[in-house]
Amino acid sequence: MPAITRYTGGKTDLTTVHIKKLGARLAGELLLPDDSGYDQARTVWNAAVDKRPALIVRCANAVDVAEAVRFARKHEILISVRCGGHNIAGKAVVENGLMIDLTPICDVHVDPAKKTAAVGGGAALGALDRATQKYGLATTAGVVTHTGVGGLTLGGGVGRLARKFGLACDNLISVDLVTAEGEQITASSDSHPDLFWALRGGGGNFGIATSFKFRLHDIGTEVLFAVATHRLDGAKDALNHFMEFATSAPREVTSQAAFAKMADGTAIVNLGAVHIAPLDEAEATLTPLLNSGSPIATRMEKRPYVDVQADADQRFPYDQRYYWKTHLINKLPQAGIDTLIACYDAVPNHRSMIILQQFGGAVRDVGSADTAFANRDAEFDFIPAAVWHEGEDSAPLVSWVRDTWESMKPHSCGVYMNGLGDGDDERLSDAVGANEVRLRELKALYDPTNFFRLNTNIIPAE
Ligand SMILES: Cc1cc2nc3c(=O)[nH]c(=O)nc-3n(C[C@H](O)[C@H](O)[C@H](O)COP(=O)(O)OP(=O)(O)OC[C@H]3O[C@@H](n4cnc5c(N)ncnc54)[C@H](O)[C@@H]3O)c2cc1C
Repeated sequence: MPAITRYTGGKTDLTTVHIKKLGARLAGELLLPDDSGYDQARTVWNAAVDKRPALIVRCANAVDVAEAVRFARKHEILISVRCGGHNIAGKAVVENGLMIDLTPICDVHVDPAKKTAAVGGGAALGALDRATQKYGLATTAGVVTHTGVGGLTLGGGVGRLARKFGLACDNLISVDLVTAEGEQITASSDSHPDLFWALRGGGGNFGIATSFKFRLHDIGTEVLFAVATHRLDGAKDALNHFMEFATSAPREVTSQAAFAKMADGTAIVNLGAVHIAPLDEAEATLTPLLNSGSPIATRMEKRPYVDVQADADQRFPYDQRYYWKTHLINKLPQAGIDTLIACYDAVPNHRSMIILQQFGGAVRDVGSADTAFANRDAEFDFIPAAVWHEGEDSAPLVSWVRDTWESMKPHSCGVYMNGLGDGDDERLSDAVGANEVRLRELKALYDPTNFFRLNTNIIPAE
């Protein structure tokens, strides 16, 4: 018998007979540490995470998810829920517990007439984009295709369409869910509306989503992409201009700043923007971004949306180790830009980056209490990301992230739940703001024993 972690503490009553019976009831696979496929299933995006579940249920469908939940409840086993496996702290995997792996539940069904997509709870963003783009449709998804729809949407979900169409969670029509009791229910504005409110920004605290139904939008299949590369030591004016440009651009435009190093070690900042349809005025709109300061390279071209969505995949591959600590920030004044440049100037290795990912636009159209996602006024997510390989000393990199995070604190206006990692639990209030009280009450209603706790955890109200 593998060692088992119980969420209630104490010893487990679990036997190999129980495990065999569970395996027999599943349409999907039950993996134990010696099984082939076990190591692959427990591997998540951040290679710094190395946890060994006692059991992995690779769910084939929602019934398997319900079986796994009821099994874990009966034997009081600590569980984790895995979709894309991109939580920075690796909360998708549980040491000695039961990992509920949703990745086989990954079908995407598009209804082009109704402009909706039904997406499996374990799907990756790339599958969603590819399926919807067959019809020139899309909904807000993040900027790295191997990220999971599950974690991204339940925590909010920002991406290149958010300024026009809102967050991923704002585009939800309904969610099929397995509750902490192992029941299958649907949450929408008509069915369990309080739960539907909590699912839009409250993370994985309220149940396991087996299917998401999204509203889709006509965006065509092409966007205009523009990027200007500046040397860090000459980027001050361009960054000032970028702040103005990004925050005053029409909602069709989403901008991003990425501080990185070239192969020869030169520190640079890429100031990029994507203009979605209609594209008639797009070139004139994006040209000022390329004309400010003294870029060392510029590029502007029409490209397929799905290709642009895959641009950052190579920058954030599996097999590397990552650490970040993020802030939501407002438009930066000169002092903030100076701090930002000084922070990246001090980066200890050439792989680590700072990213500014844009919010704004339609994200603000929804009231901060209308869904669980509260921080709707931010302009950017500020992400200093340490990246290293096995064998490299991570200590100076982690210190750099923490120092950078401290330096930027004066510009913080909260935090994005999906950016929180280990040791960030006390920042829940910064993520959900005044919604915390209602979230804790709903947690007490839907998950009073805090069965779903390996997440950015909301403690049930007493
Ligand atoms: C490389 C990279 C790029 C990113 N880019 C963006 C971006 O552009 N926009 C953005 O908004 N965020 C982005 N993020 C942050 C991302 O939203 C979070 O890391 C999110 O948790 C990833 O979801 P996942 O399903 O891949 O992760 P997982 O680690 O599988 O899941 C994270 C947590 O979500 C919960 N969960 C996941 N799926 C379900 C489900 N179906 N039902 C119930 N609970 C579930 C569980 O609690 C789980 O612990 C990025 C992260 C990375 C690492």
